[in-house]
Order: sequence, then structure tokens, then C-alpha cells
Amino acid sequence: MNIRVLLVDDQDLFREGVKVIVDAQDGMEVVGTAGDGLEAVRLVDELTPDVVLMDIRMPEMDGVEATRQVFAPDRVARRTAAGAGPVRVVVLTTFNLDDRAATAIRHGASGFLLKDTTPVQLADAIRTVHAGNAVLAPDDLTALMAGSFVAPVPTPPAYLQLTDKEREVFAAVARGLSNTEIAALVFAGESTVKTHVGAILRKLTLRDRVQIVVYAHEHGLA
Ligand SMILES: [Mg+2]
Repeated sequence: MNIRVLLVDDQDLFREGVKVIVDAQDGMEVVGTAGDGLEAVRLVDELTPDVVLMDIRMPEMDGVEATRQVFAPDRVARRTAAGAGPVRVVVLTTFNLDDRAATAIRHGASGFLLKDTTPVQLADAIRTVHAGNAVLAPDDLTALMAGSFVAPVPTPPAYLQLTDKEREVFAAVARGLSNTEIAALVFAGESTVKTHVGAILRKLTLRDRVQIVVYAHEHGLA
């Protein structure tokens, strides 16, 4: 089964270039393209792609607002009810540590890619987010989040539901460690770590590991 990709960018030339790259990769295909955020939101509902490559600066509706709408609870519920799998959004940006990319990540994006990325990195990023992982170095994410939060809010009740072991795993995920690294750190098997990560996501109602990092920073738990 191919990874189904939706390309969103207001520049035709960029969009066409990315389409050629994606279609040339094994195991993925472009199922649609959009030139603005409004069209992107509509096509996510219509095509239920696995991965959306989302430009930030676009006319009509920008990529930040489009990402927010894609992950609006009622939209997610409707797609899920229709049997669609999760949609992952990767934001495309010209600048590293773009504050608008940080906002898009808080709205549900799985990370960001610079527009001058290589075809290989682009394809890797699509596979990575499709697997439920982040597409940026934890250091980048930490810096991005640190720059965009004013003050930590009190520890949320959901976090207090985590067991001691789960909190240990939470802290390790928030630092960007892989399951293999965490397994070594907490003296457990990788499958046990996976189970803990699953429990953390469920208890905190988070989507993926990126959201754990964001959550940790938002609540001063990093
Ligand atoms: Mg643009």
C-alpha cells in the first residue's frame, strides 16, 4: 500500500517539482495538490491522505490555520467515523525555527521541513511521519518550543494519572530519545517501552511522540 500524499503550496513550480520527487519514490504517491489552505482542508476531507506537505505562506488561508482546521476535533471525528486512518501534516518552511511552524506543530503537525531539503530527506520525512514519528531533531523542537511559550501552566490532572514508570518514559520521549535508547535507560525491553508510550498517549490524549514533546514543554515538564 502506497503512502498517499497531498501537496499544498501556492507556487506551481515548487508543487510540480515536489510531485515529481514523491511520485518517483517507492511506496508513495501524490493523490492531490492544493494551492491554498482552504482547498487543502477540503481535499483532506475528500481524499483522506496519509501525509500532507503543507506550505505556510499562502493566499486565502495560510498553512497554520489550515493545519488547525485539519485537526479540529469534529473533523478528526468525522474522518475516523468514515474509516480513515490518521492524517500527518509536515509543514514546509523557508526559515529554520519559524515561529509559525511552532504554532502549526501545536495545532497537530508532526514537524517541519525546510524548503531547501534534498529529495532523499523529503522522502524520509514522509515515511517517518507516516510511522507516527517527528520529522525534526529534538533539539530543534526544544528550541522552537522554548521560543514560543511564555510561562508553564500548572501540571495537568491527566499527567498525574501516569505511573512512575510512565513518567520516566515520558521524560525520555520528551528529550527525543528513541525506544531503543529508552529501553536501555529504564532497564526494560523495547516492547515494554512501546506499551508505556501507548499508555502515555492514551492517558494524555495525544497523537504521537511529537505531541509528547510539545506537551512536556507547554506544561513545564521537559
Ligand atoms: Mg507559499
